[in-house]
Amino acid sequence: MSDEHDHHDGDADHELRVSKIRDGTVIDHVRGGQALNVLAILGIDGTNGEEVSVGMNVPSNRFARKDIVKVEGRELSQDEVDVLSLIAPDATINIVRNYDVVEKHRVERPGVVEGVLSCPNAGCITTGDEPVISRFSVLEDGVRCSYCETIVRDEIASLIDT
Ligand SMILES: [Zn+2]
Repeated sequence: MSDEHDHHDGDADHELRVSKIRDGTVIDHVRGGQALNVLAILGIDGTNGEEVSVGMNVPSNRFARKDIVKVEGRELSQDEVDVLSLIAPDATINIVRNYDVVEKHRVERPGVVEGVLSCPNAGCITTGDEPVISRFSVLEDGVRCSYCETIVRDEIASLIDT
């Protein structure tokens, strides 16, 4: 019995770097350094006792370095996945039940996101007193406010309305 043939599958080894979870979501192939932003998007700061494992700058086959986030006891909603796609466009979402991955899919970037980001332009109609829901077009490398055309490329995570 040899497991030589498994040696090329480096990703399986790397999975072991972060503990397995029983039920919840594994967000894999997050760009290196974005794990904390992923947690921010999910509203996880540890104060509610969430059980979370984070691997940062883990060697990856697909990228030089990746982050991985495992959240116990929570399955992400499509809205959450849509927002995640803005900062982690290559992420893989794995839904885990009883230690088995029951669903696995790549995130897809939506064309627009509404009501999840706040415009950084203080003069924008969406940041005033009027109840205008924010709306951003998703670009290749950022987002653009549909009202004032402000483009945000970095720091998208800091615009997330929580
Ligand atoms: Zn705006």
